Formats: sequence, C-alpha cells, structure tokens
Amino acid sequence: MNPLKIGSHVGMKGKEMFLGSVKEALSYDANTFMLYTGAPQNTKRKELSQLHIPEAHALMKEKDIHSFVVHAPYIINLANTVKPEIFRLAVEFLSLEIERTAAMGSRILILHPGSHVGEGAQKGTSKIIEGLNEILTADTPCLLALETMAGKGSEIGHSFEELAAIYDGVTHSEKLRVCFDTCHVNDAGYDIVNDFDGVIDNFQHLIGKDQISVFHINDSKNARGARKDRHANIGHGTIGLNALHAIVHHPDFTDVPKILETPYIVSPENPEKQVAPYREEIALLRSAFPVSVQS
Ligand code: FE
Ligand code: FE
Ligand code: ZN
Repeated sequence: MNPLKIGSHVGMKGKEMFLGSVKEALSYDANTFMLYTGAPQNTKRKELSQLHIPEAHALMKEKDIHSFVVHAPYIINLANTVKPEIFRLAVEFLSLEIERTAAMGSRILILHPGSHVGEGAQKGTSKIIEGLNEILTADTPCLLALETMAGKGSEIGHSFEELAAIYDGVTHSEKLRVCFDTCHVNDAGYDIVNDFDGVIDNFQHLIGKDQISVFHINDSKNARGARKDRHANIGHGTIGLNALHAIVHHPDFTDVPKILETPYIVSPENPEKQVAPYREEIALLRSAFPVSVQS
C-alpha cells in the first residue's frame, strides 16, 4: 500500500537553510514538504552553494522523504499588463526559480497565475500565456503547477475555465500542472464539502484530473464563494475535518502530495507564543477515522 504523502509548508532560514527545512518537516512527522526558496514577499535569494543541498538530500534519503515541492514568491505577477517592469521581473525571476527548483531536486514549482490589476481577466490571461511561452521550453527541468485561486482582488485562476485557458495558450503545456488549494477552491465557489467528486468531474472535463500534482490542504475561515482566501486550521473552518479527510484519502490522488498551509496557533504552554499546528494536523488527517476536534 502507498503511504499517504503529507506534509506542510516549512521554512528555509538560518545557517542550515534547506537542511533545516528537512529537519522541520521531520519534526512534524511529515513525509513530504513545501518551501519557498527565500522570503515569499521578495525576490532576494541566496546562492545555491549556501543552501546545504547535499546534506538535505542525505537526510531525506535516510528518512524516506522522496519528494518535496517549491512555491514561487507570490509577489511575482505575470498578468501585469500595466507595468512592463513587473512582467519582466516575473519572467526573469521565474526562469531562475525553475533552475533553483531543479537544482534542489524538486520536480514541481507552484505558481499563482497572476492578477490582472483591473485590466480584465482576458488581458491578464494573455499576458500570463505570453510570459509562460517565453519561459517554458521542451527542456524546462521541472513542472510549473498553476495554483487554483480564491478570486480575491483581480486574481486569475479562480475558475477551472481560467486555468484551462492558460493551458490552451501555452505551447509547452506538457510542463504545466495544477496545485489544488482546498481553501481557495471553496472560496471560489466550488462545493468540495458536499460534492468533491462532482467538482473533480468538472475539473476532469476542463483540464484532466491527472494534472493535479499537489494539493494544498487548508480549511477556510469564510463561506463557500466568499472569494476571501483566509486559511483556517483543519476542522476549524467552513470545509471541516470530514471533507478534508475524505479529500486527503481520495483513491484518485494517492500519489499526490498533500501540503498544509494552515495558520500557526497559540502555544498551549505559552499564550505569548505562536506554534506550528502541523504535527497534530498531519496526525489527525492520517488517522483512519476522523475524530471531531474542539473549536
Ligand atoms: Fe499559494
Ligand atoms: Fe495555497
Ligand atoms: Zn491561500
């Protein structure tokens, strides 16, 4: 039997960098993880030689972690048709990020498609396609997973149709995949609580469910269709533990990594401190039967 592939977002900082990320994942009893190659809100990045890649790989091998995913910083915006320098930065940064992702040994780089900043989804989508056609070649060494978005502000990619339109325009669409974020899809209006199979059926017709190569498993602080994007802890939001547990264990996606991006919680020992909820949430989602959690 295939073990559930589950982990969380982890940091990459201090002296140990990537090695520290692996240690953090292990501390949550995770067997996969996600990291940003630097601060998600800027494009400053360290040299690959400073990341401790060989040591990180050795520890992953020893502990049976076979894969992890990388998330591109969320400030880069390929959909910006207003400021050419923002688009240029996105293209150049993403090209480098693809190289870093591959050098670190990950197959997958997650990307927020972009925001049209008021110019309309059609213009924004064309710009994303233009950028991806500049970046992606037959030799691109990793896959680019477009994340399903909540639709806050002018975000593109909150409907499966919008993601399908990007696939349609990209020449090397064989390099594209999708990162399915449960909070975002809920907030975008899809009923993953009562009809996950129906939602996946819809996805299957528009893009193909084999294109889902990562899940972000988050509960949501808002009602379905709210277009808000505020993550809640597992079992503490409008999606709930039962629905999330069923998604994590869905037989169609056993090989797909599930990554938690839920918020830190107040430490039970020290009310001044915020701690990661991931060890407990991973255990909860791994358990054979969901048990109700106290809210
Ligand atoms: Fe994301
Ligand atoms: Fe996400
Ligand atoms: Zn989010």
